[in-house]
Amino acid sequence: MKIPVTCICGHPIDADEVIQMGAYMRLTGPNVVYVRFRCSVCNHLGEKLIEQQRWHEKMHDAVRSEAAAETVVSVENEQFSSMGPIRADEQIDFHLALAGMAHIEL
Ligand SMILES: [Zn+2]
Repeated sequence: MKIPVTCICGHPIDADEVIQMGAYMRLTGPNVVYVRFRCSVCNHLGEKLIEQQRWHEKMHDAVRSEAAAETVVSVENEQFSSMGPIRADEQIDFHLALAGMAHIEL
């Protein structure tokens, strides 16, 4: 699961990359969440302080988007399971279609 922290290299940090995390209550100002992480892309050891309110909002959004992604996957699974295995003639058609493409649009 992604957390609302981004490494200096731009990689969005995953919960698996977190080394230490804690919530700190402050006498003045908003409470904060402290996160120490090791980036799996650039190996940077990073630290972030995030306002607790913002942390909760971002985590709420992340959980909602993951739930939406799971719904898409289950729809795809139903679609693919009804199609049966890929036949040899379909593989040949796909190969010929790829061979005839000048470029791929993403
Ligand atoms: Zn990084």
